[in-house]
Amino acid sequence: MQDTGSAMSFISNNLKNVKERIAEAALGSGRRPEDVQLVAVTKNVARESIVEAIEAGVTIVGENYVQEAKRKIEELGHGVRWDFMGHLQSNKARYAVGLFEMIHSVDRLSLAQELNRIAEKKGAKVRILIQVNISGEETKSGINPEGIVPLVTEITSMKNLSLEGFMTMPPYFDDPENARPYFVALRELRDTLCEAHRGGISLKELSMGMSGDFEVAIEEGATLVRIGTAIFGERPAT
Ligand SMILES: *Cc1c(COP(=O)(O)O)cnc(C)c1O
Repeated sequence: MQDTGSAMSFISNNLKNVKERIAEAALGSGRRPEDVQLVAVTKNVARESIVEAIEAGVTIVGENYVQEAKRKIEELGHGVRWDFMGHLQSNKARYAVGLFEMIHSVDRLSLAQELNRIAEKKGAKVRILIQVNISGEETKSGINPEGIVPLVTEITSMKNLSLEGFMTMPPYFDDPENARPYFVALRELRDTLCEAHRGGISLKELSMGMSGDFEVAIEEGATLVRIGTAIFGERPAT
């Protein structure tokens, strides 16, 4: 067990370091640091550590499990924005609406329909990203690139969903340079779709980049980076 003092400086030092690296990557590629938002990913992270991160300046918290997030949000409150980025079962969709500001992991039509139905009932509008399996690996979640156009078309007609962009998780590489082509592919997919819709849709957000590869993702246009380990240290295994 770490004592609170050292745990606090551990997290706030990490956070400071991550923010500096985000700013450098943005400036180095001709972008503005404020155009890249940091999502602190807190699956399996203890509440005290999340509180420390929030006190140190985290404004967006990302969770992967609805029940775990629900407990944390009830306890820690709505002073920050909570996003969801895990696999969302359709029967949990009703909890997700209202808990989360943005859902990064919409990967199928049935889930979009369920979210839209619930949001309509609650009189809410849910901000979503479509999770794309850009590498096509069978073990990865997300919709395959071929399925994107029909899904986007369906979702843009859903009144209670606001489609704001795409999310992806490339395969893991020791060298983050190897992830670059996947980030490029997601950006190009977005650009192609926006052109096809002649400005009729705005897919501003690209949620890509994690602890091991966020600088490369920022160089390729990430607007949301999802970072856990680099802030909180290695997660305990579940
Ligand atoms: C866990 C997780 C992250 C953060 O990964 P780190 O390597 O710890 O930064 C980002 N995105 C998703 C979807 C995750 O599940």
